[in-house]
Order: sequence, then structure tokens, then C-alpha cells
Amino acid sequence: MSATLAPVEVTVVPCLKDNYAYLLRAPGAARAVVVDASEAEPVLAALEKLGVPLGAILSTHHHADHVLGNEPLVARYPGIDVFGSAHDRGRIPEQTRFVEDDEHIEVEGLSFRCLLVPGHTLGAVAFYGQGAVFTGDTLFAGGCGRLFEGTPAMMNTSLNERLASLPPETRVYCGHEYTASNLRFAAHVEPGNAAVQAKAAKVAELRARGEPTVPSTLADERATNPFMRCDSAEIIAHVAARLGSDRSPAAVLGAVRAAKDAF
Ligand code: ZN
Ligand code: FE
Repeated sequence: MSATLAPVEVTVVPCLKDNYAYLLRAPGAARAVVVDASEAEPVLAALEKLGVPLGAILSTHHHADHVLGNEPLVARYPGIDVFGSAHDRGRIPEQTRFVEDDEHIEVEGLSFRCLLVPGHTLGAVAFYGQGAVFTGDTLFAGGCGRLFEGTPAMMNTSLNERLASLPPETRVYCGHEYTASNLRFAAHVEPGNAAVQAKAAKVAELRARGEPTVPSTLADERATNPFMRCDSAEIIAHVAARLGSDRSPAAVLGAVRAAKDAF
């Protein structure tokens, strides 16, 4: 599907301490779309630079650090749509569109498939389109979000069945700049993984220059992200003390998540 879509201009907008909002504009489109309006001011500054008004907000989940900008941006651009999961009704400020799993949406010349990816929260959505996926706090570069509302089994399905089934070249835009510390943990649980070492070196270079480590790709994540490598013998051995006889991917993911929480 993504291959037939035009490439989209993505502006990475650093917000708060380490959040990213993403401003998207289809070629020639009169208005831009923002994914995760963490706060209004940097998004407004980026819109000014692009020279177009805002046409819609896509919210990956209801946490404050992803939606604090919704109210002020809707006040500035009255009548724009705010997309989020139907599950998050009442939790996402200014929400006007309540998307279901696998729903297709068209907005300002862009089209997305909405994937419900519970785990970090029960209403988490990943927006997939234009060869990219916007994962919020579900899939990070080198890691995944904490399991605040969902179970390891839910997060395993979200990461290793839903997101993992997207084309490997899909660009991954996540909600936070956590990549360097995520990769330190990845190297700790899988020291023999050369791809983790190589990615960590690349990430260190980017951060030394003050540049974001996004986008990653799904191929990169499958090669380096311990939460997408629940079949790695080295990772399974590392968390063996936390595992019973159940070595299923969901059980391994839960053990890796618990190890990361304590890292
Ligand atoms: Zn969150
Ligand atoms: Fe967050």
C-alpha cells in the first residue's frame, strides 16, 4: 500500500524534555497534519516555518505529554479534526474522530491505516501511511513503552504481530528520544548482537551532533530491539531467572520488560 503513496514531508518537532511531535505535509497540500501535539508553541513555530496552517491532529494515546497541545492548537485553528482511538473517548482533549482498529482515514492529502496497538495504554494507536508508522509510546527505537494499562501478551501482539507485519523498510517515528538509553539495555541483554553495537555507535554520533535518532526502520527494530527479538536465545538466557517454563514470545517480552524496568 505504502509504495503507491507519494513521499511526505516530515518535520521532526522536539517538544518538552524528550518528546517528538511530527508535522506532515502532503506534496502541495494547503494544510499540515501534526502527530502528537505534545505542546503548542514548537508546533506553531514549525507551522510558521512551513508557511501553512494546521489541518488536523492525530493523537497516538491520551497521555498528557502527547496531547497537551490539542486545546491551544484547536483554539488557534477552530474546527480541525482531532483523531484518536475510540477507546480513548473522554481521555483525549478536543477529540472529534474516534477510530477503530484497521480503520482507514484520509486527511489533508495523506492516508493512514489506524492500527490499535494496546500495551502501553489500552487505546494506543499507530498511524501507518506514506511508508511510515507513527508509534507513540508503543514502539520506540530500541525499546517499547512501559505496560501502564496492557499486558505483556497485548504488547507482544502489538509489536510482534501487528507492527512486525508491516514492510521492513517502513520508517518508524516514535514518541520519545530514548534511543541511546534503550540501546544500552539492548546491549546488556544481548551482548553478542553486532547490529545493536553498530546502531548504538550511529546513534551516539547523531546525539553528539544534537540530531534526532528518528526515523528508524522496522528492519532496524527487528535487528536491534529486544522487545522485537523475543526468540533470541541470548535474550531468553538473559531473562531465564524471570521465566518459568513458559518461553512463549509474550512471556519473554514480559520478562524483558520487567528487566528493563529494573535496569
Ligand atoms: Zn505515554
Ligand atoms: Fe510519552
